[in-house]
Amino acid sequence: MAQSAQTNSRLPSQRIPVGISACLMGQSVRFNGSHKRSRFCTDVLSRYFDFRPLCPEVAIGMGTPREPIRLATTTPDDTNVRAIGTDNPELDVTDALAEYGREQGQKQQLCGYIFMQKSPSCGLFGVKRYLANGHPEGTTRGIYAKHFCEQNPLLPVEEAGRLNDAGLLENFMVRVFTYHEWQQLRAQPIGAHDLIDFHSRYKYLVMAHSAVHYKSMGRLLADLKAAPINDIADEYFSQLMAALAKPASRKMHTNTLMHLQGYLKHLLSDEDKRELTAIIEDYRLGIVPLVVPLTLLKHHLNHHEEANAYARAQVYLNPHPYELGLRNRL
Ligand code: SF4
Repeated sequence: MAQSAQTNSRLPSQRIPVGISACLMGQSVRFNGSHKRSRFCTDVLSRYFDFRPLCPEVAIGMGTPREPIRLATTTPDDTNVRAIGTDNPELDVTDALAEYGREQGQKQQLCGYIFMQKSPSCGLFGVKRYLANGHPEGTTRGIYAKHFCEQNPLLPVEEAGRLNDAGLLENFMVRVFTYHEWQQLRAQPIGAHDLIDFHSRYKYLVMAHSAVHYKSMGRLLADLKAAPINDIADEYFSQLMAALAKPASRKMHTNTLMHLQGYLKHLLSDEDKRELTAIIEDYRLGIVPLVVPLTLLKHHLNHHEEANAYARAQVYLNPHPYELGLRNRL
């Protein structure tokens, strides 16, 4: 795995287990025997993720090649969606896909999942529903994906096609790395100090994503005797994932950068302070991407060890591998 000159890049000691639709890994499991290989997944993300490919349609015994299926409904909502054969409506694999989704959702120990878009089994968003007369009527979630996700409501999930969007990709990666670190923390009995230490590193990342959660998580941790520590930890993680699911806006990144700049106010020369302030302002105005003020901020934090170990330890500074350059396009 290539290391950048950025010494504080965030690389996991082991690749992170992430589920993926098998056709995205280049496996020829589609109904017509083809695949939908995602080079980004197989060639780039696989450096960091230990992908676990799953094809629900093959797993329930449909074979390859097979008759294509689609989602059919008799009502204009999600109450009666069935996965049936496109040519043979007598073929109904709804229950088998749902059962497989529930089973895998309980069995797999994952930190994220990348689904194939538009699939009546794997699609997460906007899969077409059809009426009995063959006309499209609204959109929904694929049967397998729906039941898998219901078992893992906090799991970071995304569709491969949406990862072409820089903001969605960065957000997915933030959530996967966070989820993974939390699973490692929870592999051992958790104590109050562990929870406080964890939050003290994630504080500014939460600030960049959700002011509401930033406050409510602070309140939650203010009294660690209010409930059993495991209950507080579960509630904390639920709030953390809800916060990170909210996209961090330019305005909120700017606010977070300014807070972190505050740790340097007695250490930088007036000239350096003016330069950092100007670059944060350039970012706020959309003139430069997020990586620019962050690089200068990290430079000063790393060169002023007395600045504050607390500030330098913030996950916000390195929430995912620097080498991916995910903040070059934000
Ligand atoms: S989208 Fe899902 S069900 Fe369809 S081929 Fe890919 S993995 Fe299999």
